[in-house]
Amino acid sequence: MPANTKIAYFSMEIALADALPTYSGGLGVLAGDTIRSAADGGVPMVAVSLVHRKGYFRQRLDAEGHQTEEPWTWSPEATLAETPVRVTVNIAHRDVTIRAWRHDVSGVGGHVVPVLLLDTDLPDNADDDRHITDHLYGGDERYRLRQEMVLGIGGVRLLRALGYTALRRFHMNEGHAALLVVELGYEEMKRRGLTQVTREVAQAVKPLCVFTTHTPVPAGHDQFPLRLVAEQITCYGDAFNACVGEFCFDGRLNMTYLALDNSHYVNGVAKKHGEVSQQMFAQYKVDSITNGVHAGFWASAPLRSLFDRHITAWRQDNASLRYALGIPRQELWAAHQAAKDELIHLVNARAGAALFANVFTIGFARRATPYKRPDLLFHDLARLVALHRAAGPIQIVYAGKAHPRDGGGKELIRKVFEHIAALRGKLDVVYLEDYDMALARRMVAGVDLWLNTPLPPLEASGTSGMKAAVNGVPQLSVLDGWWIEGCIEGVTGWAIANGHASAAGEDRAADAQALYNKLEGTILPLYYGERERYVDVMKHAIALNASFFNTERMVDQYVRKAYFV
Ligand SMILES: *Cc1c(COP(=O)(O)O)cnc(C)c1O
Repeated sequence: MPANTKIAYFSMEIALADALPTYSGGLGVLAGDTIRSAADGGVPMVAVSLVHRKGYFRQRLDAEGHQTEEPWTWSPEATLAETPVRVTVNIAHRDVTIRAWRHDVSGVGGHVVPVLLLDTDLPDNADDDRHITDHLYGGDERYRLRQEMVLGIGGVRLLRALGYTALRRFHMNEGHAALLVVELGYEEMKRRGLTQVTREVAQAVKPLCVFTTHTPVPAGHDQFPLRLVAEQITCYGDAFNACVGEFCFDGRLNMTYLALDNSHYVNGVAKKHGEVSQQMFAQYKVDSITNGVHAGFWASAPLRSLFDRHITAWRQDNASLRYALGIPRQELWAAHQAAKDELIHLVNARAGAALFANVFTIGFARRATPYKRPDLLFHDLARLVALHRAAGPIQIVYAGKAHPRDGGGKELIRKVFEHIAALRGKLDVVYLEDYDMALARRMVAGVDLWLNTPLPPLEASGTSGMKAAVNGVPQLSVLDGWWIEGCIEGVTGWAIANGHASAAGEDRAADAQALYNKLEGTILPLYYGERERYVDVMKHAIALNASFFNTERMVDQYVRKAYFV
């Protein structure tokens, strides 16, 4: 019911379903899980994103690990319903018509959160404009600004045209949607019969806006030169030009500051990230709400049926996953091995590998980019092989795409391939192509240990380790992002802690040694020598971490702190 909907959630990417390539990675998965939990909880929400007809991309890797990208074209016409309205936004002095495709997300109790995917591919539009909503994070900064106009400005207009008149919060999941602030200001200005945005107008907009920042480094924030802004944002005429200076710093329109300045509630995505962001934006109040994952969505089929047998209504009440403590060890182990069998089959089939279901398996998969250090595990190959021979056999599964323009990330994939080749015959490492949500679901459930090696404090939150926890898979990670909160050493997983790792002064050798030591001295002996104690760590990953690091708890916190205050 548009007239009863109170919250509008805006995100440049949303991971809705395996077949819809409308996401690239963590940000989009978080958005999808948020909406799934909002639907479960009956939150009166509507979500807005772009249709991304050519998706992010499909990753191809050649034998040396060179990445090439192919479009992942899909057709909303084939699966989604078109909403009955169209709106226009004037971009670079041309009216661009926008329509929306609707994808409904239904919760456990039947409540629906509609997701509107904006689309400019209409015959009325100029050819150039028809492609604005094609490529997620594609193109140059001009293309990105045009996309952000469609999302922020077009999104608000489309909601109004559909009868969403009672919205009291507009949640910006990262700064890409920040132009919605300008559109809300413009609406308010007209409502008051004014021709300029005044302080009173700005004060009326602020209570409507909520901003979640995801990036712990200033360079990661979206910004556009004023020349481009003046050329593209032509939909407001002088009213915008008069106030544009307000949002610009150093001659650039900075989407983060636009959102910070005009939101009544701002948060980072883990406690540590909230603190880092608070320092970075000292003049604003920055709170934190730690990310989560949707437990029902990320649990593998064997784990779901295990929970169904032992934990009443866990899907409606994720906190009850604490009762995983009472699940008999051998049942948890059997469910895990079933998920592992599936993964091993998939890896062997897709990569022509010969992995075994009884060998300790490490998983590492995420966006390939320098700060995540996918090559740290290979810092000292001789040491890695030695511990594999001495402490018990290991096998390793990798995956991850590099952004098409991230040269450093692509180079890292090639390096990992070199290490894989160097280890051939000694230790099996497989790099799977085309990491996406479907593959992620298999991997986080089917490995025995989830590895994460970011360079602090650059991992704002990280969520794949939470997906592993839902599946009873413990994490071994550098203490950064959510793991600072989630790691209880030897109970829920393990830390790669040496006290040196920091963006200011990286000590790779020390980090790698700490990683090898933990594997050799603690984790492998437990896995091969004291299986029951290993299963206890698996249980605690579920009972202590999956019960808390889920989007049910997270959405409750947004409701209390940001939506209905
Ligand atoms: C969860 C997920 C991510 C994010 O993983 P991080 O550990 O937070 O980096 C990226 N890509 C896909 C496909 C995912 O499912």
